[in-house]
Amino acid sequence: MNTTISIPARYLSRRGRKLDTLQFDLTGSPARIVFGRGSLSRTCEALDWLDASRALVLSTDAQKEPAEALACKLGKRCLGVYAKATMHTPVSVTEAAMDVIEEQRVDCLISFGGGSTIGLGKAIAYRTDLPQIAIPTTYAGSEVTPILGQTEDGKKTTLRSERVLPEIVLYDPELTGTLPLSMSATSGINAIAHGVEALYAQDRNPISTMMAAEGVHALCKALPALSGGNGDDDARDLALYGSWLCGSVLGQVGMALHHKLCHTVGGAFDLPHAETHTVILPHATAFNSAVAGDLLQPVSDALGGTVPGLGLFGLAKGLGAPTALRDLGMPESGIAHAADLAMANPYWNPRPLDRDAIEALVRAAYVGEPPGG
Ligand code: NAD
Repeated sequence: MNTTISIPARYLSRRGRKLDTLQFDLTGSPARIVFGRGSLSRTCEALDWLDASRALVLSTDAQKEPAEALACKLGKRCLGVYAKATMHTPVSVTEAAMDVIEEQRVDCLISFGGGSTIGLGKAIAYRTDLPQIAIPTTYAGSEVTPILGQTEDGKKTTLRSERVLPEIVLYDPELTGTLPLSMSATSGINAIAHGVEALYAQDRNPISTMMAAEGVHALCKALPALSGGNGDDDARDLALYGSWLCGSVLGQVGMALHHKLCHTVGGAFDLPHAETHTVILPHATAFNSAVAGDLLQPVSDALGGTVPGLGLFGLAKGLGAPTALRDLGMPESGIAHAADLAMANPYWNPRPLDRDAIEALVRAAYVGEPPGG
């Protein structure tokens, strides 16, 4: 449903501040979201909601074991596990999976895993319109976006289509208990990045702003608690809640410099996804704070009143997460190329892009120094 709504300004104050957008055009997601510990046990019920009897569970090879345990619990209504999901959704993997889907007359996809597995489910749904149940086990947020990134011949392209949006998402915080702490930190900061860019998005609306602020707040509170020990259930709940909110706004409003830089730098030098977001976010945030400081106030609030870019840098450091692109494998000779890529195909950003400033930003991220601005 697409509705244009005007809200009287008197209803728009939050913590004494007025929200800045008084008119907006909002498309609500039709997905059914089930959140809470133990949600995994509702997978069979979810098959009922979709009237499905020939489901296929998707996973990576690394998560084959829990995926098989799930398939086993579903009994005859599940045909088995396809455990070949791969980072960046290679088209060759999707096409191989399509043969299995057709041969076995699969009528529902169950994506059990992080963004890579959910990406495979979305790629198959794009080609078949099969219904999907997503069971996320990281904080990447792909399960609630209509965005699909695919890789072919070394080139990653992105499309938006409602066809790829999973019909049902089962968020079970217990499933994130096996995430190594290092991945909880980088995946959590990957989610924060969606919230940060939603706060200054050109097409933001009061709902996306509330969701982004709440999501960033939840993650900034949860991640340090998690790093104190993997057994903190409340922190796991809060982190997954924040990732749902931040993923939702990634699907709702446009992203800017930060996501463009991660996409181009990560793609050009084959860098790991969540780690690249973790390193670049403080720098892109500091760059945009110069013109969007007010809009980023929720980030400062969530980080105890610090300047947003420096606060995010401190958060990553405190979690022991990477802070330098060189530590992720980017060559120094790639800095100028990365700046060129970020300037190519102009896109909207709250602060106009300047080639020298972007190169300085990438250099600071390369060496891992605190962000300026
Ligand atoms: P991932 O899905 O690649 O997972 C990384 C590794 O961790 C895998 O081996 C996986 O099996 C393992 N893993 C996942 N959850 C685990 C758990 N709970 N316990 C133990 N191991 C676990 O990583 P990701 O960061 O979630 O996803 C990255 C991919 O998602 C990228 O390709 C990125 O482009 C895509 N993505 C897409 C969107 C979108 O909206 N389209 C959004 C975010 C990310």
